[in-house]
Amino acid sequence: MTQRVEQSQAWFERATTVTPGGVNSPVRAFSAVGGTPRFMVRGEGAYLTDADGSRYVDLVSSWGPMILGHAHPDVVAAVREAATSGLSFGTPTTGEVELAEEIIARVEPVEQIRLVNSGTEATMSAIRLARGHTGRGKIIKFAGCYHGHVDALLAQAGSGVATLGLPTSPGVTGAQAADTIVLPYNDLDAVRRAFAENPDSIAAIITEAAPGNMGAIPPRQDFNAGLRDLAHEHGALLIVDEVMTGFRVSASGWFGVEAVPGDLYTFGKVMSGGLPAAAFGGRAEVMARLAPNGPVYQAGTLSGNPVAVAAGLATLRAADDAVYRALDANSQRLGALLGEALTAAGVAHTVSYAGNLLSVFFTEAPVHDYAGATAAESWRFPAFFHALLDHGVYAPPSAFEAWFVNAAMDDAAFETIEAALPHAARAAAAAERPA
Ligand code: PLP
Repeated sequence: MTQRVEQSQAWFERATTVTPGGVNSPVRAFSAVGGTPRFMVRGEGAYLTDADGSRYVDLVSSWGPMILGHAHPDVVAAVREAATSGLSFGTPTTGEVELAEEIIARVEPVEQIRLVNSGTEATMSAIRLARGHTGRGKIIKFAGCYHGHVDALLAQAGSGVATLGLPTSPGVTGAQAADTIVLPYNDLDAVRRAFAENPDSIAAIITEAAPGNMGAIPPRQDFNAGLRDLAHEHGALLIVDEVMTGFRVSASGWFGVEAVPGDLYTFGKVMSGGLPAAAFGGRAEVMARLAPNGPVYQAGTLSGNPVAVAAGLATLRAADDAVYRALDANSQRLGALLGEALTAAGVAHTVSYAGNLLSVFFTEAPVHDYAGATAAESWRFPAFFHALLDHGVYAPPSAFEAWFVNAAMDDAAFETIEAALPHAARAAAAAERPA
């Protein structure tokens, strides 16, 4: 079964004329898997429909935000209502207060929130605040963790940077890169050594609460608590990046799974229901350093945009216990189907979970870090991906991305996945290692 792609192909050709690579975010370009990126025209529940009329079970969920599925009626109604009242005022609004209260009520260590427009802006601002608070310059990050395209954080970043095989990015100055200490994930000894080698100069450790950007890799049991202890022992802050995990892996994100308090948090994706909004927040004493109260400057014309805030509030309010049960159950059900199909086709694999984020590594060796993720037989992934796509399943177009289920997935969606998987597993088995 091969789908028609004439319309997507035509749009892609037009797109490449006016936009670098034809896309507004690199991983959408299918660079790692080849072929024509699908131009989607409609999302409804668990499904996406492309410009050629093909329908897919969506296992990307807009890279995380759409936990309720696409075009959820409550969210659409909230957006409509907000839009008819005006799109942007450049003044404080009531909705921003309600969204901040909703987030603070869910994540106990967060006492104050500032809204921004993207996860990148959230991590960039959190780092500036940590530097302003501590008076120090250096940051520890982990190889394979992606925190958006902040200059200082692009070194050995996962996600699209890993997909394209880039060690860092031209355009990042030596000074910015020199202030970033990149360490292997899940390795507390490496963090201990970094503090010993850089006395009184590390402002913060930034970590994904549970990484999803080198595939889904859970923190070892004592890892996040160890980071918090080491940071505090050395006068640094712990920034917990919950842009991907926040309000997806539980009602209070990874904090609801592990309850290790950080000093600063970053959020995005689910909290804005598919519209552009994100946030950073944390202890009031640290947040007090932000302008207008304190000297650390941070601002945004569209920050706290009323329509984005309405989408976020409606999403969080609709995400009740049943939604989180469905996300967990759908993740387990998908993982089991992936495992069965790959086992039946004789493909060595590990289905890895970080809460209800999951991904497939083509190796039987346990994967705890970026070196483990990149050592897997990722060259099997393009064939696997395209067979799924041809059979109506839209998986993330990279071996280094998490798969995102949503609560709208029903038995029919799982039947489509179950029918597609044997084809994909056989394609993965038949794939040839590149010379
Ligand atoms: N932090 C994490 C953990 C992410 O996964 C992402 C994006 O995928 C970001 C930050 C950046 O968010 P945005 O793409 O909204 O800038």
